[in-house]
Amino acid sequence: MKQRDRLRIAMQKSGRLTEPALELLNRCGLSFRQSRDKLFCFGEGEPVDLLLVRDDDIPGLIAQGVCDLGIVGRNVLDEFRLTTGRDAAPLNELRPLGFGRCRLSIAVPQELDYQGPQTLEGERIATSYPGLLGEWLRTHAVNASVIMLSGSVEIAPKLGTADAICDLVQSGGTLVANQLREAEVLLESEAVLAGPLTLPIDERGDMLELLLKRLDGVIQVRESRLLLLQTSRSSLEAITRLLPGGPQPTLLAVAGQPDQLMLQALCAGEVSWRQLEEIKKAGAREMYVLPVEKMLA
Ligand code: ATP
Ligand code: ZN
Repeated sequence: MKQRDRLRIAMQKSGRLTEPALELLNRCGLSFRQSRDKLFCFGEGEPVDLLLVRDDDIPGLIAQGVCDLGIVGRNVLDEFRLTTGRDAAPLNELRPLGFGRCRLSIAVPQELDYQGPQTLEGERIATSYPGLLGEWLRTHAVNASVIMLSGSVEIAPKLGTADAICDLVQSGGTLVANQLREAEVLLESEAVLAGPLTLPIDERGDMLELLLKRLDGVIQVRESRLLLLQTSRSSLEAITRLLPGGPQPTLLAVAGQPDQLMLQALCAGEVSWRQLEEIKKAGAREMYVLPVEKMLA
């Protein structure tokens, strides 16, 4: 097979992960020639292309070496690991991406008196995740029959084809609408960057390393705010105590005002009006909260 020199990322063609994945890649400085109806998107600035596919196909495409990376739910990645043969190339979760959060849970009819895993002994559980469910059942020494369904799992108990389900839950609204309640959480999931266990040692490897660094910068600052304020030296201690979590603030001298300081602090999350008002009461002036766009450590 001819070696590719451009990096190829598989992502969901249309679904919950599509928009946030594209936005993340854009923030990493990648842009693509628009051909979203097609399977393949050519990368414009950097040598990185996209393959738009069903999310379920992503782990397989990486394992076969058709793609170098994939953006996919941990649920899909872990299910692939558990259900494909040993000879499939092992995959690695390179980075959690912070979107597409959900959990894989077992849900039971609301009226069932759920007392723990043993309640499921001998029952039928409908799921699209036989690998993850099977593993959980083995761990908890429960004998239950796993009924494989590829969609509309949540209506199986009402139809009488299963006694419980194992499915993805986000808000729980779908469960309530089907008179079910969450009984066990098997997996906390979010979108992840998946790749092979060993990264290529060539131009693609170099590009991949660069991409990971950019990604780390984007993820790290996504929620961050830079807080700037002026204070007198005497209020500094009180103000420092009120600062939202983050690394130690930087202090700068103010020209011509030896008792004044500029304080600069990177805050891990949103800074609210209330927090600002408290900090002001402690003696701060001229406060600014700035979004952080890029970070390179
Ligand atoms: P396709 O197979 O056509 O790519 P899909 O129907 O399997 O699409 P989506 O429903 O778009 O996929 O879900 C994609 C991923 O989004 C899931 O695998 C999961 O990681 C994540 N996700 C987040 N919240 C939910 C939820 N409430 N229900 C289902 N998936 C969710
Ligand atoms: Zn799917």
